[in-house]
Amino acid sequence: GATLGVLGGGQLGRMFVQEAQAMGYFTAVLDADPTSPAGLVSHHHIRTGYEDAQGLAEMARLCAAVTTEFENVPAAALDLLAQTRRVSPAGSAVAIAQDRAAEKAHFVRCGVPVAPHALIESPEQMAAVPADLLPGILKTARMGYDGKGQARVSTPAERAAAWQDLGGVPCVLEKMLPLAQECSVIVARGRDGAMVHLPVQRNLHRGGILAVTEVYEQNLPPALAAQALAAAKSVADGLHYVGVLCVEFFVLQDGSLVVNEIAPRPHNSGHYSQDACDVSQFELQLRCMTGLPLTQPRLHSPTIMLNLLGDLWFAQGDAPVTPAWEQVLALPGCHLRLYGKRDAKRGRKMGHLNVTGATPEAVRAVALQAAAILGIAPF
Ligand code: ATP
Ligand code: MG
Ligand code: MG
Repeated sequence: GATLGVLGGGQLGRMFVQEAQAMGYFTAVLDADPTSPAGLVSHHHIRTGYEDAQGLAEMARLCAAVTTEFENVPAAALDLLAQTRRVSPAGSAVAIAQDRAAEKAHFVRCGVPVAPHALIESPEQMAAVPADLLPGILKTARMGYDGKGQARVSTPAERAAAWQDLGGVPCVLEKMLPLAQECSVIVARGRDGAMVHLPVQRNLHRGGILAVTEVYEQNLPPALAAQALAAAKSVADGLHYVGVLCVEFFVLQDGSLVVNEIAPRPHNSGHYSQDACDVSQFELQLRCMTGLPLTQPRLHSPTIMLNLLGDLWFAQGDAPVTPAWEQVLALPGCHLRLYGKRDAKRGRKMGHLNVTGATPEAVRAVALQAAAILGIAPF
């Protein structure tokens, strides 16, 4: 058994490690946190930061191939490892995904529609933002996730304060678009450029955080799904991407499609693939990084994924109480995935529930029952 390495010890790393181990690989996780979800289940856990030369050297010594689960891992760390080991995705692709400005420029290069936007790096640029970009959302160019690092800008008068609130760092101001739906696509691209994909996911976000993903035949109009898939493939091709890539989209009220952002790794909206597809997004990641063949995954069951945020632990008050898993697991087709995080916090991703069933209607009925038991608002 070869050893496969992952930079980052969060839940995405944990599920990658579990998939790799199921296929007989040894695993190494690099994450400074001694209780990181992936570190806890990995054969090796290198407890250093991403810029630590010794930690990276140890990673290279142990591993035949390396991937990342953390989107803000320094591209330089990936480049360093790539001098001696197979690394996917490449530092150059990850660097683009880390910077909303570079990311938007890449989408434009690929001919994929983006939200009207302006780059903000100075008070003068902020003051010059035209009124037709408002109301808008100001997003830090780097390091944002789960809606963090964002501020609404409703009127020209709010511009300066919003930018100050975000620390005056480089930002992208995006026009607030009238969304009808959100969706995402996961593609996996091998070194030879061959691509496979998961079915297009329909996503519901609440408070900037993914809440629900629904996947089944006709979850979206087929023409729209085809358009999203084609756009995702052109974004991956344009990056010469190797690995699993998630592309997030907005569907506007006029039916048009706009790309939002990419994640250079498996994605929360792809977790359903663990239980509803014959190849999961984590197996795709493993196949890409090791150069194993990519076969087209097949959705074998309609499915709904419910995200399990830390808020569910606080339904009774300020002292955390374990949610009623027994009641949920008494329902048919419920697959509970918890990430092994000790402390539940509001807004923290603690796990997810994949519901599978024979028909979209049956899955929806069970998912709504599970949501009611857990205190998740209906959808
Ligand atoms: P993630 O955790 O997915 O990386 P993030 O912090 O990078 O999230 P975005 O994906 O940019 O944030 O935005 C989060 C959510 O906010 C979107 O899924 C969407 O619901 C809403 N949103 C973001 N930008 C816009 C926009 N321009 N118009 C309307 N809604 C938007
Ligand atoms: Mg993001
Ligand atoms: Mg997003």
